[in-house]
Amino acid sequence: MKVVLLGAPGSGKGTQAVNISEWYKIPHISTGDIFRSNIKNGTELGKKAKEYIDKGLLVPDEVTIDIVSDRLKQSDCEKGFILDGFPRTVYQAEKLDEILNEMGATLDVVLNIEVPDSEIITRMGGRRVCTKCGMSYHVVFNPPAEGNVCKNCGEVVIQREDDREETVLQRLSTYHKQTEPLIEYYEKDNKLVTVEGQDNIDDTTSCVKKALGGM
Ligand code: ADP
Ligand code: ZN
Repeated sequence: MKVVLLGAPGSGKGTQAVNISEWYKIPHISTGDIFRSNIKNGTELGKKAKEYIDKGLLVPDEVTIDIVSDRLKQSDCEKGFILDGFPRTVYQAEKLDEILNEMGATLDVVLNIEVPDSEIITRMGGRRVCTKCGMSYHVVFNPPAEGNVCKNCGEVVIQREDDREETVLQRLSTYHKQTEPLIEYYEKDNKLVTVEGQDNIDDTTSCVKKALGGM
């Protein structure tokens, strides 16, 4: 199963990507997680990415595309993968098509999670993420385990710097300008399935399951 997940920041892409990765036993490739782990480890890539991420802007295409291209060529991606946060521009989507072509692979489905902006703004203020495995939580709707630790791996859970309010508004605007056009791109390809993600996580998970069940 080869899946691309589309959706605004805070739409619940990451949460659903973890589910899909478990159901199909395929690697979860999150460009956001790759950047964050590079930032944490102080690599050159991390330093570069942080400048953009903290402003709510996209990391330049030439940086991002190479990372994904290398990752998809690893052998664990042969039977499938779930891409979370890539592509985020039409140019990235065109490059992804080229990479897959070279591999003799095609996407099975592009899953678009739709959530109204107002709901996204409410969610992001309470969002917390695991510093180790990337699992995300919400202080009210989906709290971490006692002691503010991750239910999945036991590591500490924090607020991301780019989840501050001004940055969230910039990320939403970046999404509408640069990423939303991908909906049309994949509609033309007949690959797109849209699910509504504004309800609770379990309802969204059921919708995602149903959407993939037809595949
Ligand atoms: P979210 O979907 O909640 O915004 P991510 O963890 O997917 O969060 O991404 C965090 C940030 O990393 C983005 O705001 C952006 O700056 C950068 N980023 C992630 N994926 C890409 C990408 N494909 N192209 C450019 N920048 C990216
Ligand atoms: Zn964790």
